[in-house]
Amino acid sequence: MPEAPDLEVVKDHLNRRVAGLTIRSAKTLKPTVIRSLAGDFQTDLPGRAVEGFRRRGKFLMAGLSGSKLLVVNPMLTGAFQLCDSSKPLYKRACFTLSLADGRDLRYLDQRQMGRVYYVNDDGLAQVPRLDEQGPDALSPGSFEEFQERLRPFRGEIKGILTGGRVLAGIGNAYADEILFAAGVYPFRKKKALTIDETRRLFDMSKAVTQEAVDILRGRVGDDIHVKVRDFLKVHNRGGQPCPNCGAAITQIGANQRVTSYCRRCQPGLLVGN
Ligand SMILES: [Zn+2]
Repeated sequence: MPEAPDLEVVKDHLNRRVAGLTIRSAKTLKPTVIRSLAGDFQTDLPGRAVEGFRRRGKFLMAGLSGSKLLVVNPMLTGAFQLCDSSKPLYKRACFTLSLADGRDLRYLDQRQMGRVYYVNDDGLAQVPRLDEQGPDALSPGSFEEFQERLRPFRGEIKGILTGGRVLAGIGNAYADEILFAAGVYPFRKKKALTIDETRRLFDMSKAVTQEAVDILRGRVGDDIHVKVRDFLKVHNRGGQPCPNCGAAITQIGANQRVTSYCRRCQPGLLVGN
């Protein structure tokens, strides 16, 4: 899934290449993905200028002239594509916006689990889960606030991190990276975390996210729909040597739900940790 580092780089790219352009036409290809709460998507968008993009956790928003917003929750497989209008559509394209410069901004989603909300700019409360998110992983506030937000949670730390209420923007891949950098076992119960581990998780959430943004800025070119993940240290690297200690990386689960970690650098027991 696109996480804070991926979306941060996409946001900057779209601000450079799309902000200021007018939408010539809008075409819906997969209606189930679109929630038109501020007018019909296909007839209301044309003629509006794209004012700029911003990110809130795992949501990307485009401000449009006339006080409208497109708010995208890409979920597991959503992605943006910016390309020449003549380029053939991918089957997974859900909508396309033709821009005044002859290019298209397209939204792709293989599983169509993502949602795109067309709202008035005072209608953000209508977007499910947007306001439930905690502060962004890149601007997490103080450690004391982090501890306070963690307090009501029970259960395993990885699930708490990816839930987005304590910090926003961390998904399955970067949670593995943050836990590895902090030396914390992913299935550790929150109540078993020491103060030092909690501190390291807080510090590494921002550091790992920022480092990934810096790397991706140099790696993601015009093909913003292609996810770059080959520089990650443990996520999806089951069986490969740990970059810290050389032990084989352990991997549990499948597909979008894998958890990868080093048993030696992140010690813990699967049961009763
Ligand atoms: Zn290791």
